[in-house]
Order: sequence, then C-alpha cells, then structure tokens
Amino acid sequence: STESAEDVIGWARNMMLHSNQTRTSKGRLVIESRCLEKSLVRMKALQMAHEDKMSYIRSLAENEYEKSLLSSIVPAHQIGVRFDDIGALEHVKNILQDLIVLPLKRPELFRKGNLRKACKGVLLFGPPGTGKTLVAKAVATEAGANFISIAPSSITSQYYGEDEQLVKALFALAKKLSPAVIFIDEVDGLLGVRSSTEGESTRRIKNDFMAAWDGLHSNDTEQILVFATTNRPFDLDDAVVRRLPRRILVDLPNAENRVKILRKILVNEDLDNTFSYEYLASQTEGYSGSDLKNLCVAAAYIPIRELLDLECQTKPRRRFSSESIRALCMNDFMLAKAKIGPSISYDAAAMIQLRQWNEQYGEGA
Ligand code: ADP
Repeated sequence: STESAEDVIGWARNMMLHSNQTRTSKGRLVIESRCLEKSLVRMKALQMAHEDKMSYIRSLAENEYEKSLLSSIVPAHQIGVRFDDIGALEHVKNILQDLIVLPLKRPELFRKGNLRKACKGVLLFGPPGTGKTLVAKAVATEAGANFISIAPSSITSQYYGEDEQLVKALFALAKKLSPAVIFIDEVDGLLGVRSSTEGESTRRIKNDFMAAWDGLHSNDTEQILVFATTNRPFDLDDAVVRRLPRRILVDLPNAENRVKILRKILVNEDLDNTFSYEYLASQTEGYSGSDLKNLCVAAAYIPIRELLDLECQTKPRRRFSSESIRALCMNDFMLAKAKIGPSISYDAAAMIQLRQWNEQYGEGA
C-alpha cells in the first residue's frame, strides 16, 4: 500500500542518517530510496486514476437497486488477470479471443452481415477449480470490458417485487458500463432447471432475467455479454442453454497441461535443482488447476516454517530476513502432496454425465 511505501522510504532515510556503514552501502541506499520515491509517485497516480474511475462508476447508479450492485463491479483495469497468466487451456483462450475479445475490441469489424453477429452468451462448464472464473476475468481484461460478478444472492431479495427491480438494475448498470461482462458463477443456482417445486420468486427471477437478456442489442454503444460458469450444465434450464449458444468445456488438465499450469503458478518462485515440473506433473493425476495451486502454496510454507523454527531455537533469539528463506525443493512438494490431494468434490459419475452433456451440447474439447 501507499502507507507502507512511505514507511520504507522513511526507514531508508533513517538508516542513512544513523548508519556508520561504508560509503558504497550508503550510496546504494540513496539510489534505492530514490527508486522507492519514484514508485510512490507512480502508485499515487494509479490510485487517483482508480478513485476517479470508481467515483465515475458510483455516479452511474441512479437508484437504490443499482447502488446495491456497485460492489459487484470490477473496472476492466482492476481485474488483474490476462490470458498469459493462465496455463494450458489454449483452445478455450483461442475460441474466446475470436468470439468475444475481438468483437468487443473492434466492433466496427463486425457490423456487416449476419454471420459476424456478436455473441451474447457463453457457458464455461467443467469440474470445479479448472480455471473457468480465471478465463472469464482474463476475457474481460483483454477486451477492456468492465466485469460485473453476480452471485445469485445479490439479485434475489426476500421482498416481493424487488427481484424484478434488481434484475432490471443489473442490466441497466451493465448498459451504462458497456463494454461489460456480466459474470454469473454457478449459474445452475440462479437459472437451474424449472421444477414444479420451485418457488414463485425463483420462477419470476428466471423469466425476468431471460427477458432482459433477450432485450440486449449488441451494437457499438451497448456491448454486453453474459458469461456463465457451472460444474453441472446438465442441471440448467433448456431455455437458458439456448441463450448460451457457445458452450465450452474446461476440463481437468492432463500431465502436459499440468506442467504448463505449474509453470504459471511457480513463475516467481525460487526452485532448486532437485525440482522437476515433469515429475511433479506426473505425480498429480486428477488434480485441477486450483488443486495444483493449493499444493504449491502448501509447499511454499515449508521453508518459511523451517526458518521460524530456526529463529525459535537460536539463542539469543533473532529474526532472519526473507533472503534467508531457502529455495523450494522437490521434497517440499511431495510433503505437501501427502496433505493436499485432488478435490474429491467431483465424482466419477458426475464426470461421465459432464462428458455426455459435452457430446450433446458442447464444443471446444
Ligand atoms: P473455477 O472457476 O473453474 O472453479 P477458478 O478459475 O476459480 O476455477 O480457479 C481457482 C484458482 O486455481 C485460480 O485462481 C488459479 O489460482 C488456479 N488455476 C486454475 N486453473 C488454472 C490455470 N489453467 N492456470 C493457472 N492457474 C489456474
């Protein structure tokens, strides 16, 4: 944060004033503190740009329903995920680059003819933790679109008639924020299959949502895309599936793709020469991208814990700097693997159902 950068500069100055170090190390501190000051100025400018953008977005909300949705909005420049941060899933990224990113970025190229009509809905389906949310965020970033992330609870209300207002507010806000991606995670929760036992309000939300969705006109000033994800596409209402014409399977990674994902997750880590991406990938059959991330986080804690233990044992007690943390070795990952297995939330039967649904309705894998 800005505070801590100021603190660091103050600390560096104090060090210089009070230290009796050599001239060279004093010189280095002068240079480092100048660099820090420059970054501080840059951070302040970025923060101002962000606040301007946020206050502009806040000013777009015209009623209490629209205001209640403001916390669901992430401006394009704040999303922070790009295609390049995602390992593997090349076919998914390629399809979405052509289908979504390009039309949102260059709408003028898609004006003529019927074949190039912008797509209004995409469904990403697959087991949990395979990167569906990550992909949706990257699409919004790459297209420069604002991201409106809707949890079913943010557009359902316990008061009669309010749901309708919230759905209306959602689409009204999206139009003002255009280009925008409306992201609905676990869409089966909101727009699941119609059943005789579903309540009146659930039915109403679904109908209102679909009517508002049908009312979207993709043109230069109104570019809104509904991006939905689900682990259970077979639970979706047919009417919803029809409105999501592009349905893309985001599957569990094979060994080759696990290597690619691990390379992204570990890009900034210090790894020693016992570590092998290929070996770790061969040992993690059934792991999703999210499982791999959890495994790596657990492995990265091991050297830190060792350092803390060492600090406790050293007499008199002393604090080691972060430079004293050793590089990660293969054994850290094997120890972490003993604790973090692949998620079991998705069983074999669901996997078969998913593949059957993909055969019938899906594309892309
Ligand atoms: P889903 O929406 O499919 O349940 P997420 O997109 O939320 O999964 O993924 C959870 C986390 O797992 C991500 O934030 C990221 O850290 C990691 N992850 C998943 N897939 C990938 C991938 N292909 N490349 C890099 N990281 C990934």
